[in-house]
Amino acid sequence: MINIPKGTYDILPKDSYKWHKLKENISNIARKYNLKEIVTPMFEHTELFVRGAGNSSDVVNKEMYTFIDKGERSLTLKPESTASVARSFIENGLFNESMPIKFYYISPCFRYEKPQKGRYRQHTQFGLEIYGSNHVLSEVETFLIAKDFFNSLGIDITIVINNLGCEDCRTKYKEKLKDYVESHLPDMCPDCHRRYETNPLRMLDCKSNECKAILKDAPRINDCLCDECNDYFNKIVKYLDALNIKYKIDNSLVRGFDYYTNIVFEFYDGDSTRSQSALGGGGRYNHLVEELGGKPTPVIGFGLGLERILLYLEDLGKTFEDDENVDCYVASITDNVEYVLNLVKDLRKNDISCDYDIVGRGLKAQFKYADKIKAKYVITVGDNEIESNTLIVKNMLNGTQEQVNANDIVNYLKG
Ligand code: AMP
Repeated sequence: MINIPKGTYDILPKDSYKWHKLKENISNIARKYNLKEIVTPMFEHTELFVRGAGNSSDVVNKEMYTFIDKGERSLTLKPESTASVARSFIENGLFNESMPIKFYYISPCFRYEKPQKGRYRQHTQFGLEIYGSNHVLSEVETFLIAKDFFNSLGIDITIVINNLGCEDCRTKYKEKLKDYVESHLPDMCPDCHRRYETNPLRMLDCKSNECKAILKDAPRINDCLCDECNDYFNKIVKYLDALNIKYKIDNSLVRGFDYYTNIVFEFYDGDSTRSQSALGGGGRYNHLVEELGGKPTPVIGFGLGLERILLYLEDLGKTFEDDENVDCYVASITDNVEYVLNLVKDLRKNDISCDYDIVGRGLKAQFKYADKIKAKYVITVGDNEIESNTLIVKNMLNGTQEQVNANDIVNYLKG
């Protein structure tokens, strides 16, 4: 037998309604907040992610599914969608449209990670990208959208937020951080040696215990922030307070990609802290579009892990209602197959979901099957019923049974 690849999973029919519900919630949010869907391909030129997400990030460095196609091109299954949306924005001239544009996507991401609960090699993100605003209200709008989405699922979130400042603030900070780290370098991991040279901020995200212990006392970015960056951040915080949105400021939050500038954030449930894994995260990336060859365009966005959200809801014992079961099943004991086919056709034409016996079972087995598929009603059709134009309808939820004139069957089932 051939097994499923490690770190992937199947969504079985018994669970697919949960995904439909999640997607319904996303569609509702999209409608309420005027978000426009964007769909980009499953794979892109490898260079897009190297230039976009940055080669000092672990995702780009260690986790990409990269392959050479038959045309000798290096392609990569997308590990994230932000760079793809930026590529599409530039390539399709979307910068000519009225700004801001609020994009959203639901997309698989592929990362060669060590699989564990809530960490897969293919996962799905609901993402938001707000293009063309460098105003604090785009941060506020981002948080309102995330909060509303989580609330619609019954999850109360806390936003963990940090201010990485502008280019000048970060240049100052990187020097300070490097000065501090220099004498400790021999005790730090090989990755941090590389990060020290390529992007020192990424050291703050190191998972090695030795590095974490050393970096615990490292200088923090807030000592290096200019007045403008401080003001920007303070305004966001002021609006979050005014809107009663729960947040925590964490000066060690840097996030996994190189493109972040200014604001970064992660979403956690209720009062939990960063010791638990995030349900989502994001930030501002004001140089990404330029970096990929477009006109300078400010962008802010997030990516929420849908598998992780479903697992979290399961842990909370919260369930969606499975309302996708068929409305009715037509059980038949007659040779008049044409009558049955026409009845089924008529019900479906009237938007009543309906199934019937296509294997040639006896009546008892048909009822058993109807029960298994959780049909709400079973209509029994025999020669007598056809002759009297009266169908027997059993309500499978309460077990009651009624005779219904065949001409009234649609109204009866709809009523
Ligand atoms: P990132 O693109 O790394 O900012 O991740 C955004 C969100 O996607 C995270 O907060 C997680 O909820 C989810 N996520 C990231 N990587 C994985 C993964 N390997 N498996 C499942 N969910 C993931």
